[in-house]
Amino acid sequence: MLLTLTQQQDSDRVTISPTEIAISIIDTLLIVFIGLFAISTATQLRDDAIEKQLKIETSLADVMTDEFNHSFQATELVLAGVAEFLKSRGVEDQVALAANMTTEPANEMLRARISGLSFIDALTLIDQTGRVLATTRVWPAPAFNFGDRQYFKVMQSMAGGPTYLSPPIIGRIAGGPNLVLSHRLTTSSDRFLGVINAATDQTYFANQLARVDLEPDSVVAFILDDGTIMAQSPPLPLDRTAEANPPRYDAKALLGLPQAGGLIPAGVLGGRERYTAVRRFANFPAAIVVSVAAGAVDDEIRRTTLPIIIASLVICTVIVIVTGLWGRQLRRDRQQSSLRYRQARTDTMTGLANRLCFVEWLERLNKGGPATPFALYFVDLDYFKTINDTLGHDIGDKLLMAVAERLTETLTPDAKLARLGGDEFAIVRTGVVEEADALRFADAMVTAFRRPFLIDGQQLSVSSSIGVSLCPRDGSDLVSLLKNADLALFKAKTDGRGLARVFSSDLAQVAETRRKLQIDLEEAWEHGQFYLVYQPIFETGSHRLSGFEALLRWRHPERGEVPPDQFIAVAEETGLIIRLGAWVLEKACADAMNWPDRLFVSINLSPVQFRDGAIEAQVKRALEITGLPSRRLELEITESILLQTGNEVQSILAKFRASGISIVLDDFGTGYSSLRYLVDFKIDRIKVDRCFVVDLVDKPESKAIVQAILALAASLGLKCTAEGIETEEQAAILSQGGCSHLQGYLLGRPLPPDTALDLTAEARDPLAPS
Ligand code: C2E
Ligand code: CA
Ligand code: CA
Repeated sequence: MLLTLTQQQDSDRVTISPTEIAISIIDTLLIVFIGLFAISTATQLRDDAIEKQLKIETSLADVMTDEFNHSFQATELVLAGVAEFLKSRGVEDQVALAANMTTEPANEMLRARISGLSFIDALTLIDQTGRVLATTRVWPAPAFNFGDRQYFKVMQSMAGGPTYLSPPIIGRIAGGPNLVLSHRLTTSSDRFLGVINAATDQTYFANQLARVDLEPDSVVAFILDDGTIMAQSPPLPLDRTAEANPPRYDAKALLGLPQAGGLIPAGVLGGRERYTAVRRFANFPAAIVVSVAAGAVDDEIRRTTLPIIIASLVICTVIVIVTGLWGRQLRRDRQQSSLRYRQARTDTMTGLANRLCFVEWLERLNKGGPATPFALYFVDLDYFKTINDTLGHDIGDKLLMAVAERLTETLTPDAKLARLGGDEFAIVRTGVVEEADALRFADAMVTAFRRPFLIDGQQLSVSSSIGVSLCPRDGSDLVSLLKNADLALFKAKTDGRGLARVFSSDLAQVAETRRKLQIDLEEAWEHGQFYLVYQPIFETGSHRLSGFEALLRWRHPERGEVPPDQFIAVAEETGLIIRLGAWVLEKACADAMNWPDRLFVSINLSPVQFRDGAIEAQVKRALEITGLPSRRLELEITESILLQTGNEVQSILAKFRASGISIVLDDFGTGYSSLRYLVDFKIDRIKVDRCFVVDLVDKPESKAIVQAILALAASLGLKCTAEGIETEEQAAILSQGGCSHLQGYLLGRPLPPDTALDLTAEARDPLAPS
């Protein structure tokens, strides 16, 4: 439950960090970039491959059209030559044509004209009726009539130019399929006279095309403009006898292709899509078609682009994996650092925020000047150390946890609690302006401590002192706010504990005075401003002087005589008391050496001297260097010394007693006054505190207490000194009550060493009957 405090404010730290966002953005951009790069490269490669393929095809088509064109031009020249010959002979009618061309020499002439031209199989001359007049195949010409031939009809009807390339026909003389180029013969008045044609065996073209070194899945074809296939490689299974219905391609699809070629859909050149180039002959209604199955090109494209796509995929995968791992590491780091952050700001025992966290709260609140007013509470348990020492750390820890919970219960939503360490807690509460408001909250906490804590089945009562400072009223910087809350806490403690005090400026003044006093004390030590006085202590019955209590004095050049009540506590705070205490021991023992041997010297010890652990050595040394017998030394301790880590003090005191030193319990009745101390720690004497003695006559309760103390001392076999006796009445009551020793202004004031020495000569108290 308590952990929530620190967890809450850190929860916002476990979101996605800017680094991770940046990584994923870069990640995505990289992948998109690589993807685009791969796609564009693949597309480019594909386009390049297609372009290259079409280039090969168009140049092949160019070469083939060139080659075929040469044959056709040569053939056309031959045919035109025959026509010119007839014109030059003045052939004007059918009779003259026959007369001129049916002769053997004429036939010789025709043969001569095609002698070097391997691609022309035969020349055939037909008259206007379709009768064959001459053919280079045989002489005389067989009696054929070609009037039914399509090319003849074209020539006769004047459809088309003077030359005409017909679809393949089956030669009636040679038998095989031929391609026939016809030339129209006319009279001088342009009347139809007949036809001279050149036949080329279809296999010639097929062979020409077959010479082309084709890639697999490629086709090269020679077609007429109407799509009729004249020849093709690889060859089509052409029917060598049927000419009525020659195979043809879809001319529109083919001839509609751009100059650079393009993709022909499936069904035009076979069943598949094909990259195709088409070149038309300039002077003949025919074209060369070169094409390759798109699948073959695509295979090639796949071969070149696949590695790129695979490489891209691999790179993307690697990027995703690497950045994924990186991100995970970052997340783990962040979680760990946020855990470390939380741990560094959590008090492990109570789960509350710790000092660091608390300071950070304040810094955050105070950032940029005191914008929000707030109150700062220091909560300190009273006598926690005693509980810890007497009941053990285990119980102490459990008590702290219970206190943490109790405090948490008193919190309001505007307040946050932290444990600063030890038994110190702190609360910051925002929006507090009024001192009364601040105090109400603090009092509520003080009240909450009235209920005892149940620890391991036993009830523990502990009170708390609370110091409060207000921001901005008591300071706007953290240092002064913390210091002032601390001063208020100090005030609460000195005012009697179990209280709450709010800082006020006079506290600061007191603190300042203390600080000045601390400095002056240190100087006093250096300049030897301390000295001792001795107050006599008398035996009750015999009225004889028993010894002196050494009392410390400080004479400051300006302050004058400073009473020990004012400076001992400060010397304890600064630690000066250690050096000072050692000096007192040595000086008092030395002075006592001047007194008669039966007189003791009683020396006050501070709890700080015990805490430091130096006391044993200091006492030993004082006795050694002065030579004072230990039986003449009395050490006055207070109950607060006994409250310190029990066993240690107990064993030190036991050692002192064993060596003959007497132990006196000073100020008895004021502090805890536990009877247990009297039994547990071996004490030689108790000193009834002055406050009881003062009220002895007027207050019956005080008298009752003193009488009870005296009875107790008697039953425990302890000697008893009463101090602060100022009246004879007091002296009478105490001596009657069984007090063994008396001390007070009535009997003798604290005296300088010389005067004390003089007193030892009399050695009887002033009340003694003379
Ligand atoms: P304390 O040990 O209880 O000392 C007794 C105090 O009562 C002394 O005050 C003494 O002068 C005073 N006193 C004695 N008889 C009378 C009396 O009849 N009437 C009144 N009104 N007062 C009387 P002092 O010397 O001012 O010392 C005050 C306290 O300072 C001492 O109380 C003791 O606790 C402490 N102290 C004094 N000297 C030393 C020292 O050397 N070391 C340590 N650690 N503490 C010392
Ligand atoms: Ca004393
Ligand atoms: Ca005393």
